[in-house]
Amino acid sequence: MVQDSQCMDFIEALRLGSASFTRRSCQTVLEAHLLSIGRIIAPILPHLAEDMWQHLPFQYITEDGHVAKFVFESRWPELDAEHLSFPDEEVDFWGKILELRTEVNKALEVARSGKLIGSSLEAKVYLHCSNESLAERLNKMCEPTNDADALHRIFITSQVEILNSLQDERIKDVQYTGEYLMEEGNKIWIGVSRANGSKCDRCWNYSLQVGSFTEHPLLCGRCHNVVIGLQTRDLDDLAKSEAKEAIAQ
Ligand SMILES: [Zn+2]
Repeated sequence: MVQDSQCMDFIEALRLGSASFTRRSCQTVLEAHLLSIGRIIAPILPHLAEDMWQHLPFQYITEDGHVAKFVFESRWPELDAEHLSFPDEEVDFWGKILELRTEVNKALEVARSGKLIGSSLEAKVYLHCSNESLAERLNKMCEPTNDADALHRIFITSQVEILNSLQDERIKDVQYTGEYLMEEGNKIWIGVSRANGSKCDRCWNYSLQVGSFTEHPLLCGRCHNVVIGLQTRDLDDLAKSEAKEAIAQ
């Protein structure tokens, strides 16, 4: 399900450390789409498809085991049974999340016109949902085990918080609000305020962790981990190349 602004999420995820699960899963999704779209457009736009194929950063191995050097050496993409086995409830849930995102975007747009925020990353979104099981699921998406499913990434905001009650003190001054009406009379209340913390110099998300790392005071926690990982990898590469040079001498 790669569409409009989510493309940017996927591309943004590629900036994470090479060992990151999120980065690897986003690469898989982008690869699957690239290979499918390239082969589907080939009969209509052969030059464009071939141009894309020649720039693939990997070799494409066909079902019979040889390398397709040209796009027309590959076959029409087949349906992936694993992808199609995604449960109906999950398809339904993610459809609702995308509809909720449309309503969140409307509230963000009003907050932008009201000069509360400039970019959506300057915002924190509050949600309140009367349906307990949905509220629990949304709560889990605020602290997911992988970065790709995080609600704030889906909304392209810096933070999202699920409220237990609309009487919460934190939203008494929230001016920009919206609502997502789901079926069966369920609705989700949406509130927009400015994000907490400061802007990370690397990913531009706002975080309370910015300023808490002495080595990298301008980075958020996620970017700090990525940069430390990259530095460790660079040191490892340097040590390996020095070892190789020493052996060669
Ligand atoms: Zn960051």
